[in-house]
Amino acid sequence: MKISIKYPSEALDKPIFSTAILKTNTKVNVLRATIDGVSTEMLLDVEDSKVKKFTEFLQGYDIKVSEIRQGIYIDTELCIDCGACCSLCPTKALYMEANSLKLDESKCILCKNCIQGCWVGALEMQD
Ligand code: SF4
Ligand code: SF4
Repeated sequence: MKISIKYPSEALDKPIFSTAILKTNTKVNVLRATIDGVSTEMLLDVEDSKVKKFTEFLQGYDIKVSEIRQGIYIDTELCIDCGACCSLCPTKALYMEANSLKLDESKCILCKNCIQGCWVGALEMQD
């Protein structure tokens, strides 16, 4: 499951993220991170069975946790399967198969590169 977490500035000097992984024995994949010295925001892929425990641990340190329900939607009426968006996708979540555009949602990091790159407007972010 994908979740986003946001640290307040007061928590930046503590190893809360790594402690959460160790204490809850959770496998976490960091899909995206923004660290600017003021706050930290991360998009994470957390194993489904551990999400609740992992989330509760972080919330105990006042870290904001949100479940991500958004995803890329392909309007197949508009898409002409040109493949242009595939080269803009950093994780290869978008790919061509048998001359048809496909999406592997598990690989999508919600960067929106593809939306900006589709010249016919066939892609959008949906809840
Ligand atoms: S760039 Fe647009 S039209 Fe081309 S394959 Fe991607 S979604 Fe379809
Ligand atoms: S939002 Fe980013 S990662 Fe997801 S399909 Fe589009 S380009 Fe790929």
